[in-house]
Amino acid sequence: MSDGLIFNETLYPGVQVSYSCEDILFQDRTEHQDLVLFTNPVFGKVLMLDGITQVTTADEFIYHEMMSHVPLFAHGSARKVLIVGGGDCGLAEEVLKHPAVETLTQVEIDASVVEFSKAHFSDFNAGVVDDPRFELVIADGMAFVAETDRAFDVVIVDSTDPHGPGAILFSEEFYRAVHRCLTPGGILVTQNGVPFLQRDELVTSVARFTRIFKDAAAYIAAIPTYFGGHMALGWATDNADLRETPVAVLRDRFSAAGFQTRYYTPDVHAAAFALPRFILDAVEDGRANA
Ligand code: SAM
Repeated sequence: MSDGLIFNETLYPGVQVSYSCEDILFQDRTEHQDLVLFTNPVFGKVLMLDGITQVTTADEFIYHEMMSHVPLFAHGSARKVLIVGGGDCGLAEEVLKHPAVETLTQVEIDASVVEFSKAHFSDFNAGVVDDPRFELVIADGMAFVAETDRAFDVVIVDSTDPHGPGAILFSEEFYRAVHRCLTPGGILVTQNGVPFLQRDELVTSVARFTRIFKDAAAYIAAIPTYFGGHMALGWATDNADLRETPVAVLRDRFSAAGFQTRYYTPDVHAAAFALPRFILDAVEDGRANA
């Protein structure tokens, strides 16, 4: 028991999010980042990397469902999926629920995150590493997409924020390399911050998407531990129709997939692209500044 220990997230100057700590389950300075896993009475197990909240057992389902089921049900026939980052493997677990997915390749820079996630996050990543469709590559996502000769129908960037090893995953160079290894009409989805506090991150990503893809957009989800309101998920594809896949089609695909969710529904999927005005303004600024 760590009496009175508090962990502060200091991602935003001037604002601190404090978590009381019941127990520290794992703490390490890996080759790439500071890593701490602790328990909190409200959010359960909490993973922080370089002092920034990454995932909690209480609300991971929101983020992992929306980052996976939106592109996969919009696409409708994704067979080969790439995850960049995603060390806790919660996103991988959601992708693998799709029976039509034939291969899932996950490129994670820090083996330590995966190793302890297997031990501590089995609440939401059980079965991933034993799934024959799953392939884990320990590498920098930038190097992988720059060098691979493989093609993917959906690429999901479940990265840290644009600091440290994650910074390159927000670059135009990275997005161009992803575009190169997407199949025609493939979809890129990115973790793109909380626009109320990280507006420039969204504007910059959309501007870069616009220079590379035919359709550059974003959708939103409300994740309690990503402080500051809606989280934006970046969306980029050369098939603009996919952003407007009819709800009736989404419902059919969701029903055929045959699994349950706790946040995602076809109607939530469609509504997630209806952006509040200030977030739509950020997306439109990105398109205009391309
Ligand atoms: N849900 C979290 C969020 O929205 O901030 C992200 C969770 S996941 C733990 C983020 C992962 O990205 C970490 O495991 C980190 O090691 C990985 N990562 C950071 N930079 C990377 C890079 N250049 N290549 C591959 N993985 C990277």
